[in-house]
Amino acid sequence: MAEPLDDRALAGLRERLLEWYRANRRDLPWRSAAGQQPDPYRVWLSEVMLQQTRVDTVLRYYGRWLERFPTLQSLADAPLDDVLKAWEGLGYYSRARNFHRAVREVAMKHDGQVPRDFDTFHSLPGVGRYTAGAVSSIAFGEPAPIVDGNVRRVFARWIDEPNPTQSRLWRMAAQIAPGATPGELNQALMELGATVCTPRNPRCDRCPASHLCWAYLRGTQEERPAPVKARPLPHEDTAVAIIEHEGRFLLVRRPVDERLGGLWAFPQAVRRRGEAVAAAAERAAREGLDLAVRAGEEVATVQHTFTHVRATYHAVRCAWTGGQPVPLRYDDWVWVTPPEVETYALPVAQKRIAGLAAARMAEAEAA
Ligand code: SF4
Repeated sequence: MAEPLDDRALAGLRERLLEWYRANRRDLPWRSAAGQQPDPYRVWLSEVMLQQTRVDTVLRYYGRWLERFPTLQSLADAPLDDVLKAWEGLGYYSRARNFHRAVREVAMKHDGQVPRDFDTFHSLPGVGRYTAGAVSSIAFGEPAPIVDGNVRRVFARWIDEPNPTQSRLWRMAAQIAPGATPGELNQALMELGATVCTPRNPRCDRCPASHLCWAYLRGTQEERPAPVKARPLPHEDTAVAIIEHEGRFLLVRRPVDERLGGLWAFPQAVRRRGEAVAAAAERAAREGLDLAVRAGEEVATVQHTFTHVRATYHAVRCAWTGGQPVPLRYDDWVWVTPPEVETYALPVAQKRIAGLAAARMAEAEAA
């Protein structure tokens, strides 16, 4: 694709994209029927859920979420615990926390109406340039550009560039968005990347933009954009204290501004160099809750990979030997029976540990 396209070429490209999109778009629950005004809250929700998450996964959550929080106001009124419970398993929990904060701000400062104005919307907590562009264009028809991973791949191929700069990508998107229907055009670009211009084996014979795609003309599609080299992640070795007392576990709520903030978990401590797992588990109880415990058997080792770190959790059964819990490093604590754990929002790895710990507790009681 030669940049910038002249008006005639742009008009032709928009027409092709729209025609293709209207004939091929997937029927997804957050998309409104042709001619219908989309609900801004639902569009916003879908864009937040779809960040770094596959459509198939989001489909499992989206409907359930709307049953629980059908309107923006119902979400604004809900406590964070309920919001995180509804988000449980989707990962990247800062999305849920920020969405909740932003929705509360809309309820308080904007009369419950999602701001139409791009800059106002962009200034809300956690709303980046992409989300602001997507919601402004799809829900309100604003000519705001968007660039996500799919659009980046499409554009990199149009210009046959292995490492296009962000500014160049956004410039290209800004050229295309201001048509008669910016929301549809933006969705057409994303849909093209998701279903036709795929990372492997792009289906160029079905592409409405093959006429201007230099990578297609040169046969370099699969090399564009250049693959990002994955850097090895640092490793954290963590002791998890399963503190038991009369058939209950002690759970703690993590501080909101930390990783997995607001979620419930078992007390834990990253092991120091040379520190035994049992000693680290006892330290987790002491430093996190001012509790004395005696570490026993290790019941599980669970691996989990986060965006920035690889974690190994060693879950250790601990007997409570003295003191009352004081949440020194946590926001709150609670004693729960194994079935009650289900009513709290736990990260995936902690949920697995809870299941294994509950099974071990039942075995020990039966013995
Ligand atoms: S022609 Fe092929 S590589 Fe180029 S944008 Fe279309 S699907 Fe992608």
